This record gives sequence, C-alpha cells and structure tokens, in this order.
Amino acid sequence: MKILLTEAEVRDGVRRMAEDIGRFYGDKPLTIVGVLTGSVVLLADIIRLLDMPLRVSVVQAKSYRGATTVRGELLINADLLPDLTGCDVLLVDDIFDTGHTLFELLGKMQGLGPKSIRSAVLLRKRGRQEMTREPDYCAFEIPDEFVVGYGLDYNDHYRNLPYIAALEPHEIAAGKSS
Ligand code: 5GP
Ligand code: MG
Repeated sequence: MKILLTEAEVRDGVRRMAEDIGRFYGDKPLTIVGVLTGSVVLLADIIRLLDMPLRVSVVQAKSYRGATTVRGELLINADLLPDLTGCDVLLVDDIFDTGHTLFELLGKMQGLGPKSIRSAVLLRKRGRQEMTREPDYCAFEIPDEFVVGYGLDYNDHYRNLPYIAALEPHEIAAGKSS
C-alpha cells in the first residue's frame, strides 16, 4: 500500500473544509447526513469541528456493480432520515468518483422538501466525473487510484486506517467494493 494522505494531512484538510462549511452556514441550524458506510469516519470528525446547532443522520447507498463495467442500479435506503422539510441539509460522502452516487442521493433528498441541500466529500478523483455538477465542498483531489482508509474500504477492510492509502494493482482482485 502506498500512503497518499497522512493522518496529519487528512486532519488539516477536514479542518479546512469544516471552516468553509462553518463560514457558509454561520449559526443557522444544519442537518448533516452521512452516506453509509464510507463517510462514518469523516462524519464523526467533521461534526465535532462544527459549532452551529446540528442534527446528524445517515442514508445508505449501495451500488450493485456486476462483473462487467456497466454501472449497476443504486439502491437508496432513506428510512433513517429525519423530516427534512424546510431544513438546510449537508450531505457528506467519502469520495466523488463518477459522481452518480452523490447526485442520485441529492436528487432523492431534494424530493423530501429541504430548504437547501449542499454536498461535501473528503476526496475527488481527478478525471473520473460523468456529471456536470460538482460537490460544494471537497477536501482533496487525488489521482485515479483505488484508495482505502479513513472510512473507505476494500471488501469491508481498511476502514479504520487513520490515513488514505492507494492499493497497488496486484492487491486489487476482481471487483471493487463500496
Ligand atoms: P461514484 O458514484 O461517484 O462513481 O462512486 C462513489 C462511491 O464509489 C463512493 O461512495 C465509494 O463508496 C465508491 N468508490 C469510488 N472510488 C473508490 C475508491 O477509490 N475506494 C473505495 N474504497 N471506494 C470507492
Ligand atoms: Mg460510498
């Protein structure tokens, strides 16, 4: 494994992003929604850096990628969300790759009647985007490599690493996991 971002670099990037978010919302109450499971570490860190009144919730997104390169259907479980009507909402995810996951989730949550909805990601993979929109907040741009750590997994392992590492091609077997 090759370390792309050290623990200290991740911490500084998350702090900068939290400062931007804090400047934008000020003292307004915010509902922050993490995308399971990859965002849990970022979610836990970022909520402690924000000092406006906060509600914290989660939403689950699972994409079924088959053996082919065709993108599978995205399954969204929004059962755990609180009432978002009239709320300022910030959706938090681990990584912005093609962008489909984040924007399908944003579309679905927009339908729940929030006053506003923005998005924040820890990582953005350079050159991979298939959407015209970008997340509102992004801590780091990274090269197009498969990364793990700080919430991101490979077959459900490595989420607990405090840094971001790229798996070498020989370490990656058949399919990716989310
Ligand atoms: P997108 O829909 O933007 O293509 O993919 C976003 C989702 O794919 C992320 O939420 C994440 O679960 C997964 N993903 C994309 N790239 C990586 C990666 O490099 N490592 C890991 N662990 N997951 C990734
Ligand atoms: Mg994910």
